[in-house]
Amino acid sequence: MFKKILIANRGEIALRIIRACREMGIKSVAVHSTADANSMAVRLADESVCIGPPRSRDSYLNVPSILTAAAVTGADAIHPGYGFLSENAQFARMVEEHGFTFIGPSADLIDRMGDKVSAKKTVMELGLPVVPGSAGAVESVEQGLEICHNAGYPVIIKAASGGGGKGMQVVRNDEEFSEAFTTARREAAANFGDDTVYIEKYLEKPRHIEIQIFGDKHGNAIHLGERDCSIQRRHQKLIEEAPSPVLSEEERMSIGTLAADVVRKMGYVGAGTIEFLYEKGEFFFMEMNTRIQVEHPVTEMITGIDLIAEQIRVAAGEPLSLNKENIRLRGHAIEIRINAEDPDTFTPSPGKITTFHAPGGLGVRFDSAIYGGYSIPPYYDSMVGKLIVHAKTRDEAIKRMRRAIVETVIEGVKTTLPLHEWILSEPAFIGGEYTIHWLEKKLAEKNKDS
Ligand code: ADP
Repeated sequence: MFKKILIANRGEIALRIIRACREMGIKSVAVHSTADANSMAVRLADESVCIGPPRSRDSYLNVPSILTAAAVTGADAIHPGYGFLSENAQFARMVEEHGFTFIGPSADLIDRMGDKVSAKKTVMELGLPVVPGSAGAVESVEQGLEICHNAGYPVIIKAASGGGGKGMQVVRNDEEFSEAFTTARREAAANFGDDTVYIEKYLEKPRHIEIQIFGDKHGNAIHLGERDCSIQRRHQKLIEEAPSPVLSEEERMSIGTLAADVVRKMGYVGAGTIEFLYEKGEFFFMEMNTRIQVEHPVTEMITGIDLIAEQIRVAAGEPLSLNKENIRLRGHAIEIRINAEDPDTFTPSPGKITTFHAPGGLGVRFDSAIYGGYSIPPYYDSMVGKLIVHAKTRDEAIKRMRRAIVETVIEGVKTTLPLHEWILSEPAFIGGEYTIHWLEKKLAEKNKDS
């Protein structure tokens, strides 16, 4: 087992990894930018190293600084968390070349799955259903139009190297297409350094359902059920829950088994997520995330399994401690992402938290790195915490979440807590009858009324 792990990340996920390390008797090293010198991760890690100025590209994306910090502190492994360098194959390769273990899959697999065009091709060959559309990259307007005609409008143009809900454009007819295609390529080049785009049929009423998978270095692979992440705004998840209110037990087992088979065939090591759109009883592969995800606690709550600890054990070469016999899905879990943003306009609201009180009680978990007096720096993602609840039934989980939101006090900055309170009281949410487009439609109606 590792003796010391360096965490190449910040915020709540850095804290989450430090917690797992401490329980496992592993020393932790927090790296941080100058803007994060007062962070909770720096306070709670065994050691900390400043790796640069506030801007991410000078600190959390600064590979030489991170590797130097690992060497200086004598770490044996690096956990990338999510975001930043977590899906950067070149980083994974360099970590290994410098004699550290990368806590995640091989650089080659990150590469293959990171390019959405090659990912789709790979999983299709391994037996997963994919969203209909172009077989690969689309090079010209003419080629694109032909694909649109075959798939039928509406379509969505996506960047092969895109992520975080960015780099996507919905097109509804021929007239819109050529301009959208040119813009999509230009934006893909500007944002992701790669102008490759592809086309998919745009599904009008799907849910986003993803399967948590895990593989080890001994050829084992399993799935841990699904998470329903259909409450989204601008293709970004706001609320996640497990199990999905729309899946039957048979559907869950058949898609889960299929997903586990695919990662076993790939020789995938570590935690990963296979994302699908689900419509009228059918699953369509969208992409695979080769890392731990923001919403992993939802799965932890219904399985009772520490996914970060399992990532660490598997990276150290131990066989999966999980198998079909000992994984049991119990009750219902919901997570809300708390962003420091205006709940009506969604503009970021960084600044000093004057008063803070965390919610508590049975089945309530608050994963966050904030504290009273903490100043949220303006340089990074606006997510400042996640509130997760677990209860016997979905109904009870919703009530518990509403109760926990009322208890949560974050003053001094604006947060999206009021937005969540509103969503959790909406009949469509309570009834479990929402698609990925539901929230945006509701928000548009709400803005018209006010
Ligand atoms: P990212 O890597 O940026 O998260 P994804 O490919 O996972 O991109 O898509 C993010 C979200 O965009 C999905 O959860 C879904 O809401 C929407 N989306 C993606 N593809 C389609 C599609 N073919 N039809 C409808 N919505 C889609």
